[in-house]
Amino acid sequence: IFSAIAMAPRDPILGITEAFNADTNPAKINLGVGVYYDDNGKVPLLECVQKAEAKLMEQPTPRTYLPIEGLGAYDKAVQELVFGADSAVIQEKRAVTVQALGGTGALKIGADFLKRFSPDSQVYISDPSWENHRALFESAGFTVNNYAYYDAATHGVNFEGMLAALKAMPEGAIVVLHACCHNPTGAELNADQWGQVIQVVRENNLIPFLDMAYQGFGDGIAEDGAVVRRFTDTAGPLLVSNSFSKSFSLYGERVGALSVVASTAEEAARLLSQLKRIVRTNYSNPPTHGGKVVATVLSTPELRQLWEDELAGMRVRIKQMRDELVKKLAEKAPNSDFAFVREQVGMFSYSGLTKDQVEKLRAESIYAVDTGRICVAALNSKNIDRVVDAIAKVL
Ligand code: PMP
Repeated sequence: IFSAIAMAPRDPILGITEAFNADTNPAKINLGVGVYYDDNGKVPLLECVQKAEAKLMEQPTPRTYLPIEGLGAYDKAVQELVFGADSAVIQEKRAVTVQALGGTGALKIGADFLKRFSPDSQVYISDPSWENHRALFESAGFTVNNYAYYDAATHGVNFEGMLAALKAMPEGAIVVLHACCHNPTGAELNADQWGQVIQVVRENNLIPFLDMAYQGFGDGIAEDGAVVRRFTDTAGPLLVSNSFSKSFSLYGERVGALSVVASTAEEAARLLSQLKRIVRTNYSNPPTHGGKVVATVLSTPELRQLWEDELAGMRVRIKQMRDELVKKLAEKAPNSDFAFVREQVGMFSYSGLTKDQVEKLRAESIYAVDTGRICVAALNSKNIDRVVDAIAKVL
């Protein structure tokens, strides 16, 4: 029965990591990853996480099953973070949240839920988008289309193209939007453009699915979440997936959540019951540890403050690296213009490097994605000069 099964295609980003791992050059640099590294090139273990873990171990509890929708304290903390503690959708009990296995798990619960209740809808993702969006919605049974997003000429958003694509979508289409820190481009909509997007989504009765994997990595926790709140200020359905993989540096704990906004509390209760069915038939209930850590940090004022400070530290360091990259490239490659890197937001930058240039960088043991995506959060004060010299050489 297994003999005819073909080999599945390799994950393009994991392929880079494999090549990087096999490289014996001690000065090798991996800019292909989607992980935040500190200035010493290490994935941080946040102090707020260590303190929360110590606090939890002061009164160890047995590891029983969590409820299907996850830890109550976690779901509540997520809602307050995502929608704002004073949000009407929380007060009116119109938002339901289920703990999920990272942002990916949240997207998959949402995709399965939508397929069940809006089976004829098609899904629209940005061109380009996080590479798993297409595969994930396709595996839930949807046809997945692109909407215009990136403008290679300006290294920013092709807003006219995006708006035209939104206007052309049929009623009931599911539109996946990056709430902040667009992966892979780093190109971001401004507040006015978001207003126009929200208007078209609502007027044309599209189903917005906001993916927020990097809250706090752009301009701040509230600033990055502003789009979610602007959507909830308008009537209509809304799904929001969020992840703490990056913002808590808890990649392997798989902490995320799916929130769905209903029009009434009674409708919300029905939605929750269906979301629980999806969870129950997939993995029954989520794991305990990561959810407890995040809930403890978010609901303990000193730890919460520590987290906000540590997250700000990561955000500021990324911005410094953007700034340094632009300045140093202006010195080393005076005929080029990388000023756009400063305007891009979040962990990534579509650098404009071609596939050919990326291949040449690889010969220098510097690894980036073929599309030219670099992880700015993998740059640090020790490796940036080598990266800049290598880029100047391949230009
Ligand atoms: N959405 C986007 C846009 C992402 O970039 C990522 C992860 N890099 C995810 C979702 C998934 O997050 P997680 O790793 O928590 O599953």
